[in-house]
Amino acid sequence: MKIFGIAGWSGSGKTTLIEQLIPRFVGRGLTVSLIKHAHHSFDVDHPGKDSYRHRVAGCREVLVSSQARWVVMHELRGEPEPPLEEQIKRVSPCDLLLVEGYKRSGVAKIEVWRPPMDNSAMDGYAVRLADLEGPSPRLRVAQKILAGSVGEPLMPGTAARIFTGAPVPPGADAIVMQEDAAAEGDQVVVRKIPQSGEWIRRIGSDIQAGEVILSAGIRLRPQDTGLAASVGIASLPVHRRVRLGLFFTGDELVMPGDPLPPGRIYNSNRFTLNGLAKTFDCEIHDYGIVPDSLDATRAMLRRAAGGCDVIVTSGGVSVGEADFVKPAVEAEGELLMWKIAMKPGRPLAFGRIGTASFIGLPGNPVSSFVTFLVFVRPFLLKTQGVADVQAHAITARADFDWPEPDLRREFLRVKWNARGGLDLYPTQDSAVLMSTAWADGLVDNPPNHAICPGDAVKFIPYSELYR
Ligand code: AMP
Ligand code: MG
Repeated sequence: MKIFGIAGWSGSGKTTLIEQLIPRFVGRGLTVSLIKHAHHSFDVDHPGKDSYRHRVAGCREVLVSSQARWVVMHELRGEPEPPLEEQIKRVSPCDLLLVEGYKRSGVAKIEVWRPPMDNSAMDGYAVRLADLEGPSPRLRVAQKILAGSVGEPLMPGTAARIFTGAPVPPGADAIVMQEDAAAEGDQVVVRKIPQSGEWIRRIGSDIQAGEVILSAGIRLRPQDTGLAASVGIASLPVHRRVRLGLFFTGDELVMPGDPLPPGRIYNSNRFTLNGLAKTFDCEIHDYGIVPDSLDATRAMLRRAAGGCDVIVTSGGVSVGEADFVKPAVEAEGELLMWKIAMKPGRPLAFGRIGTASFIGLPGNPVSSFVTFLVFVRPFLLKTQGVADVQAHAITARADFDWPEPDLRREFLRVKWNARGGLDLYPTQDSAVLMSTAWADGLVDNPPNHAICPGDAVKFIPYSELYR
């Protein structure tokens, strides 16, 4: 049995080519079979068919037989798709087995390329330069080519009315933009002789075959999916969203909208952390407020670990009488790290519960916001396959004084001023959430490092931290 592959981008004409080859082989007396690698979104069976119902009801295989043909459908139910070598074994022996698709298989194959065409960058007239003699040459307009249609070869002495994006007809070597031409009946007078190639967009001038246009490990932005679509890519392999469990510890917490009894505070972290999690494309599982008790915290950790890849909590992670997160993690899983030398945010915890990763953030609103950006952000992005998670700092001028730095690395809330320098929010208290809303970003200040007005500092704009 001879095996031969035909590969190419969708729309390149593989199927049409194969369709024309098959009768030639069959005509020579060969038995020909074919394996086609179908698109992700393709299915042979559809709702409404009996076979569909039997499959959905749970059959492992459904064989449908009729006078015309028989087909067996085998359900993978989440198992990986078998490689080509295995599928080849399933085909009855034949003289020639054609393989359509399976671009990366080792089978000998031909690649099908549909040569795209040069197109017009302007509304105007496609012309042959050799026809343009004298000051105001006149040509007969023999055809009209709109974007989406293909014209006829351009005959000597004629012009083609052409529009932006329409393919340039064979024989034409420039476009005269309509502002440089005058239509007179079925003729056009060229007022300005174009350069060779003028207003022709050469195919391949933006992207060459074989060029890498998008690399693995990037977060797809709108322009990236647009670029993929522009070369006909209908689907892209992506990582699934990370399932992020969030809960908020504290007997003092009340939801905005509910009455605020004495001694209670609103659960602002729920909004800050949900918003941040959305920014990083997580599938959010928000378990709400958990009371300050070991049992309640343990029970919630267990529940979240069952349905999430990563658990992030707020509050209860230091060593106060009402702090139960640390012992709860130790009881339900493993605490791998606790406390970091940074301000705000000292009592951050990291661990594991079952298969889920755990990050416990401090409850102070500024601390949980900053530690989310500094620790949780890169962790979530890495988990979702992003290769470069570094938030890039820029050097900027401090227009403030910071005479009494902490022994820990500090992240100060600052804002651009009209002079192109940075102002400091007057209070850097980790309970004052206003500083985070006021600021344009954070100054990353090394331990024990005083700042004087005019000093260069490392500034990380929010735009970098939300990227
Ligand atoms: P904790 O880390 O639990 O000791 O909390 C530190 C401070 O943050 C306390 O003043 C808490 O009231 C406050 N806090 C804790 N959780 C939240 C929250 N979800 N929203 C706003 N403030 C909070
Ligand atoms: Mg607390």
